[in-house]
Amino acid sequence: MPNRHLSASLRRKAAALLLPALLSAAAPALAPAQPVGLPDLGDSSATELSPRLEQRLGDAIIKEALRDPAFIDDPDVTQYLTDIAQQLSAQAPAGTPTIRVFGVRDPSINAFAMPGGYIGVHTGLVVAARNESELAGVLAHEIGHVVQRHIARGLVQQKQDSLIMVAALLAALVASRGNSQVPEAALAFGQAAAINSQLGFSREAEREADRTGFQMLERAGFNVNGMASFFGRLMQASGLNESTGQAFTRTHPLSIERMSDMQNRARGAVVNDRPSSSAFYFVRAKMRIMQAASSQDVRDTVRYFESRIAETDGIERSAAYYGAALGWMRLREFDKAQEAYLGATSGARSHFMLERLAIEIALARNDAARAVELARSAYARWPGQRGVAMALAESLQRAGRNQEAVEFLKEQMLKWGDEPRFHQMAAFSYSQLGNVVNERRSMAEYYAMTGALPAAVELLQQARSASRDFYEQSQIDAKVRDLQRQLREERELLKRFQS
Ligand SMILES: [Zn+2]
Repeated sequence: MPNRHLSASLRRKAAALLLPALLSAAAPALAPAQPVGLPDLGDSSATELSPRLEQRLGDAIIKEALRDPAFIDDPDVTQYLTDIAQQLSAQAPAGTPTIRVFGVRDPSINAFAMPGGYIGVHTGLVVAARNESELAGVLAHEIGHVVQRHIARGLVQQKQDSLIMVAALLAALVASRGNSQVPEAALAFGQAAAINSQLGFSREAEREADRTGFQMLERAGFNVNGMASFFGRLMQASGLNESTGQAFTRTHPLSIERMSDMQNRARGAVVNDRPSSSAFYFVRAKMRIMQAASSQDVRDTVRYFESRIAETDGIERSAAYYGAALGWMRLREFDKAQEAYLGATSGARSHFMLERLAIEIALARNDAARAVELARSAYARWPGQRGVAMALAESLQRAGRNQEAVEFLKEQMLKWGDEPRFHQMAAFSYSQLGNVVNERRSMAEYYAMTGALPAAVELLQQARSASRDFYEQSQIDAKVRDLQRQLREERELLKRFQS
């Protein structure tokens, strides 16, 4: 299956960054002089990666991941997972990086922490979670690795590997950004991937992540049994030699001791029998459909949802209808999708993910006016949902209302400064409006945010020559200088690691 293959490549890239040894004892081997303007890699005697470099590496790799088809670029999924993680990390010590979670299209049960507070979660893990507290339990464990800085903390015996790793990573990064001076990048990256297959956290690190994670889980008000019950099932699955759970247990070794520690902790804590949010059920259904690789898989998954419709009630039944509707959408059976959508909303149930589905069905049926109407009322009700905002912008564009779309997108950029897609959408509307300067500038912003710096610079130069406004030109010049400085820094950083 192509998805599984690509997903494996994403996992390798992610694993490359997981390398706990990352810089550890590698620092003394680096060139001693610190060139001006470069990030400080920390004291040469330091046994860990500096938080600043860790963040830069994390930001860089996430931009790489954006281009991988296994990366789930869905605002509902990203926002839901990140919200849960941030409820947990709100209980973490000060200085913990902002936690951002993304989904990976892969049916195996796995989650991984990367440098800079990024956490990847496989669709298979969310699908396997029985309730929100179980999902929160795994996320809490991963955040525990971030809080304890396991990714950056050194494992001295791996110093040689980690040096190669960092060099390979940076080489791959710069190569991906159009620097033809690094032809060997792909090869180096392959080496890096080979080294990573043996990667895993130590038992001590696992215990620390459990302990820290448990505290966050309890303080954030989730059911503290969530962690033990999910890990218990994983351990059983890997003991039974089921392939689904192996990915996780390989990188996070489970043991009888760990399990009994978790159970003991849960016994001594107040059990908060908190129900799962509606979003949990809808996101889980969506991720189940997302991991279906072929149209036959989609059909089988729809059949699964249909059996759930017959067996369940309440929110679970609504989510089963929702999942079936998403499946019909993928099969381009829009009438069946609409029918399932109505099933999902029976009993006057409403949720922003259901409304977003209704908007998508209207768009698929080429009824842009209806989509705008639905999206406007959904946005009035859920202004804090990025997916709803995107659906409204898209509906306006499809209805040919590009001036309104631009005004709306500008508001959204202020609200969500880290979302590249609003800039990409704005570029489309500007092109429809014949505004070349703003089209190029918006697209340049999109490229800059997704790591394609040379492309961003080129578009800005085009925007500058199209501009007739002195003030605008100097704004563009400043932005070009800023991007060129970033590019230079990356190349210098790479040279340091290669020397
Ligand atoms: Zn772990």
